[in-house]
Amino acid sequence: MPTIERDAILARLATIPGPDGSGDIVSLGLVSDIVVNGGKVMFSITVDAARAGAMEPLRARAAEAVKALPGVESTLVILTAERKGGAGQASAHSHPHPPRAPAAPAASASGKPGIPGVGAIVAVASGKGGVGKSTTAVNLALGLAANGLKVGLLDADIYGPSVPRLLGLSGKPQTQDGRTLVPMQAFGIKAMSMGFLVEEDTPMIWRGPMVMSALTQMLREVAWAPLDILVVDMPPGTGDAQLTMAQQVPLAGAVIVSTPQDLALIDARKGLGMFRKVNVPVLGIVENMSYFLCPHCGGRSDIFGHGGARHEAEKLGVPFLGEIPLELAIRETSDAGTPIVATAPDSAHAAVYRTIASRIAAAVAGGAGAKPAPRIVIE
Ligand code: ADP
Repeated sequence: MPTIERDAILARLATIPGPDGSGDIVSLGLVSDIVVNGGKVMFSITVDAARAGAMEPLRARAAEAVKALPGVESTLVILTAERKGGAGQASAHSHPHPPRAPAAPAASASGKPGIPGVGAIVAVASGKGGVGKSTTAVNLALGLAANGLKVGLLDADIYGPSVPRLLGLSGKPQTQDGRTLVPMQAFGIKAMSMGFLVEEDTPMIWRGPMVMSALTQMLREVAWAPLDILVVDMPPGTGDAQLTMAQQVPLAGAVIVSTPQDLALIDARKGLGMFRKVNVPVLGIVENMSYFLCPHCGGRSDIFGHGGARHEAEKLGVPFLGEIPLELAIRETSDAGTPIVATAPDSAHAAVYRTIASRIAAAVAGGAGAKPAPRIVIE
């Protein structure tokens, strides 16, 4: 199968005129990052929320143009609504409550109404992909459960849902009363992911302010309650899509996963900045793939010069939650759908996740409300 070049995709998309017939969708900056996964191509096109319905032909045209490229088996093209200054624009009409005035008492640090029966919602985020965010989110969720909490895991990574694979789950969630979805269960936690709702190779067709309403549904139309804590595996990166999600979800706080080398590259700082912008407290930084424990001799090697995250966290004034080693068993169990915290609870690695999980639980219980992130007002 030929590899699909992003440039070839962009060249195709550059032949499609913009929403008003002038320019093209690429040079107008409407095309998001393009994700190529085997023969599947995914991207989104930013449109005016008010005109989302009328933009469907544009979406279909873009999808067809890319589908015609050699090697492309399926496309997933989503229309995303433009963010216009005010919060909640994209999903305002699908939201059950009107946006609150800033002075109103907040149900969560972000000021969004909470979910009945769900204690706290915590985002696990990263500045970029591939740092082990999903693996960490899954094992921390299981670590919270091992510490005696009722836990749910929401996979908000709509482009590349990985929670079904990481938890070894397949099949479709049932509905209750024809509308509410019953979350899937694995290793004692509840889980929901877009990956359960669409076939792996079926292109998803999203209309309207789709991404946000999918997320809103996975939050509010799923029988999560009763939960002490809902862990949200955020999509990687700190672009507009993530910012919007961070704004929409009533988050108690956020945990940033970073590798030692990535901190130096400021990706994690971008993550911090993003949550601060939306006034969500950062509960702390977790350093993943921090050091290597040799399975043969037991010796420890600091491959990436570990310790960077601790220093950075200190400098940035956010708590350092702990470090997770680069470990073959973590990779193997994660990729096999048998996460280490659940399947090897006596291992040293499971203990590391449980310790970090208890720090997160403590921060949510005590710190988040008492010590809000500084309010930074941006235009
Ligand atoms: P992200 O969600 O940041 O894209 P993933 O959780 O999918 O990252 O992890 C990327 C890869 O790294 C996966 O193959 C996963 O098994 C592996 N991985 C994650 N954390 C560790 C770790 N601590 N040690 C070894 N492998 C890891």
